[in-house]
This record gives sequence, structure tokens and C-alpha cells, in this order.
Amino acid sequence: MAYILCERHGGSGAAAVCDHVAASLFSTSPHPLDSASLVPVLTTYADQTLGPTWLCPDCAALHRVPPDGLILEGEEGLDRFFDTIGFTPVCPSCLTDKYPDLTRRVADPRRRTSACS
Ligand SMILES: [Zn+2]
Ligand SMILES: [Zn+2]
Repeated sequence: MAYILCERHGGSGAAAVCDHVAASLFSTSPHPLDSASLVPVLTTYADQTLGPTWLCPDCAALHRVPPDGLILEGEEGLDRFFDTIGFTPVCPSCLTDKYPDLTRRVADPRRRTSACS
């Protein structure tokens, strides 16, 4: 993941979100995205896990990601992630300031996703 330099929080490894989630972080109007509606996508490749990347419900629907999230695996998953889904890097502290419960939700993404299979 990219390195990001935040005006408020300094430098850190970037968190990944879709454009709409990124835009909502810096919007001063009451944002329409509810953190419970954000959908995590993880990509596993060669024993490494990338993500989670948080998608808004529209992007999740567009990419046919189930509401409970998705784990993409292997080279095919990596291609799908980078070529089709993509992401916008944002400051992880700004993300958790706006959506504090995301850290809790991602604690066990495998349990969440396997529960629906
Ligand atoms: Zn989106
Ligand atoms: Zn920040």
C-alpha cells in the first residue's frame, strides 16, 4: 500500500477505500455513508493479505461484492482487485476518525465472509 502524508496525522501507510468513501472523509456536510454499510475487500496472494479496502454500497454492488465482504485469492484475485475494483489511498487515522467501528469490523473478516458460504 502507498505511503500517505496527512495534514492532521502525519505520515503512515495508507488505508484503501473507493473514491466515494474517500470523498466522504473530507466532506463537511453530513455524509450519506453509514460505516455499517461499507464493504471490506481483502486480497490474499503468496501468504500476504492486502486490505481491507472499504467500498461504498454502490461500488460493492457494481463489483458484485456481497454486503459481508469478499476475499479475493491468488493472481486472479489480485488482477481483479487492481484492474477492476481499484482503490484510493487515504490516511488510516482520518478513516477511523470518521468511521470508528471499521477497526472492530475488520478484526475477523474471514469469519464474516465464510459465515455466508
Ligand atoms: Zn464507491
Ligand atoms: Zn489523517
